[in-house]
Amino acid sequence: MSARKNAAVASFAALLFLFAPAALAADARDIHERILTLDTHLDTPMNFGRPGWDMLDEHSIAQDMSQVDYPRMVKGGLDGGFFAIYTPQGPRTPQGFINARDAAIMRGVEIREMVARHSDKFELALKADDAAKIAGRGKRFIFMSVENSYPLGKDLSLMRTFYDLGVRMIGPVHFTNNDLADSSTDPKGPEWRGLSPLGKDFVVEANRLGMVLDASHASDEVFDQMLELSAAPIILSHSGVSAIFKHPRNIDDARITRLAAKGGVIQINSYSDYLVATPAIPARDAAMRALGMKYGPFRSLRDDRLKAYMTERHAIEAQYPLPRATIDDVMAHLLHVLKLAGPDHVGIGLDLDGGGGVVGMEDVAGIPEISKRLLAAGYTEADLAKIWGGNALRVLREAEAKAAQLAGK
Ligand SMILES: [Zn+2]
Repeated sequence: MSARKNAAVASFAALLFLFAPAALAADARDIHERILTLDTHLDTPMNFGRPGWDMLDEHSIAQDMSQVDYPRMVKGGLDGGFFAIYTPQGPRTPQGFINARDAAIMRGVEIREMVARHSDKFELALKADDAAKIAGRGKRFIFMSVENSYPLGKDLSLMRTFYDLGVRMIGPVHFTNNDLADSSTDPKGPEWRGLSPLGKDFVVEANRLGMVLDASHASDEVFDQMLELSAAPIILSHSGVSAIFKHPRNIDDARITRLAAKGGVIQINSYSDYLVATPAIPARDAAMRALGMKYGPFRSLRDDRLKAYMTERHAIEAQYPLPRATIDDVMAHLLHVLKLAGPDHVGIGLDLDGGGGVVGMEDVAGIPEISKRLLAAGYTEADLAKIWGGNALRVLREAEAKAAQLAGK
């Protein structure tokens, strides 16, 4: 090769290098239009009851802390996902159970109302195959999930009620232990050493109904027992990897390998505290608590009061800055599972509107950054299709098939 040709090749390569990130970003965005994309943990329904808040308006984190709405789903190329009925753990008393049950059912109703109000843009998905059908009609698909089964109290017959409401994925527990299972983060430690006797029946009932069992937030022992007892593959709808960052909410490699061997999937989250060391800043917590006392729940605020709240909140954040995870941290977890278990056993569950979002991917509009980085790491469009939805839908399809089989169909 001549020196001149050499130089030409070198400068062409340099040019390619220069434009590669932009080209990858464009490819990533195009791929989102061609494949089915879903996130398995969206806490957006918490916003559905906010005064003056509508899913069709474009909001911003700075304005109201929300991370998902229709315009930003379109920007990010997210076709749908599992929208959570989340209930905080409360008192394990008959009245506590009734209050939680009613709140959870009403949250489910709110999800259905949002879909009904905007039926030209959204459609409720009840089967795995609905996702592609709804996307094919040019709409976004909404699956429903339950995060924390505390609203069931001790009455597993309510699982049928939630199934009939549209719920297709269910996790037993949240931050602290309940009557079904131990949490990974209860400061008091384990109460049941895994699932309670009722929690074991909960697994059987989820299999019977065709709901995917979700082990995110559950203790490692609960994960082990759910994996053992469940007749269908299970999911971690929003979790991280303890080999990358040690935290009770993250899971070790041996368990990921066993999850994969049974056909399951781990969906990588973007909750900063589970990705990087986050020091406790008591003065910040105290200031945030005082802010909450002054204004009440921020999701009840609108207009000038919301603006005033956000201004004061930003001042506290500036005064006591916390280290925040970046998109690099999210990718470290994702790439680790890809190497460990391959592209059939990992997906995306970012916990947006529930504390997720990182520097470099602040809201749903930013999600093509994940795809861009997967392409840069050598993963193909076919891999992306599995990661962005194929794997989670396979797990739901298997839960459906197992339920049909158990019913003798
Ligand atoms: Zn969560």
